[in-house]
Amino acid sequence: MTPPIIGLTGGIGSGKSTIALEFNKLGIETVDADDVAREVVSANSPTLQLIQDHFGSDIIDEQGGLNRTKLRDIIFSNNNERLWLESITHPAIRALIQQKLAAVGSIYAVLVHPLLFEKGQESLCDAVISISVPGTIQVERVTKRDNQTVAQVRKIMDVQYSQSDRDAKADYIIKNTGKTGALGDKVKHVHIKILETLHEQ
Ligand code: ADP
Repeated sequence: MTPPIIGLTGGIGSGKSTIALEFNKLGIETVDADDVAREVVSANSPTLQLIQDHFGSDIIDEQGGLNRTKLRDIIFSNNNERLWLESITHPAIRALIQQKLAAVGSIYAVLVHPLLFEKGQESLCDAVISISVPGTIQVERVTKRDNQTVAQVRKIMDVQYSQSDRDAKADYIIKNTGKTGALGDKVKHVHIKILETLHEQ
């Protein structure tokens, strides 16, 4: 049976992966929506086959995987193609996320999702944690982590919810402005609150 699901969301570079590891240390299993999105279109998958049938074999790279740069170029300039792609990938991603959540053995599961609200996937969750950081810190951390330019990071942030919108919809907020060393205690604090709420139910 699927355990209660706690969504963990935040913009790019807010600290989702770092905080997910802190939940793992407490014995809580996590499912990462970005990993699932990659798995759904991995080499030889049925979804990748559908994409190849639609866009032609040019969309497949030399290793048999998806040529993401080519796909991105197509869908950025053609809204109908983007909608078609989403009609194929979104249900497949949602189904695989649900399958992975159902296999979780911990007392609750954490669903790590950068676009939890944007994609309406908070409906899968019993409660949601928002990671709160100012945009300037996101830019600073991601340019360092991914070697991206400030403009590239800002472009990604533009299609994501604003910090205040995300925080307003969340049940818990973790501020990730301090040192990484402080995250363990912050996560433990939220974990205890989640356990209390689960016991009350
Ligand atoms: P996300 O998964 O939300 O994109 P990450 O967890 O990968 O974010 O964090 C982005 C980058 O910032 C990583 O390089 C991570 O090590 C670093 N980072 C995360 N939290 C902190 C923090 N509190 N202080 C300093 N660096 C941090």
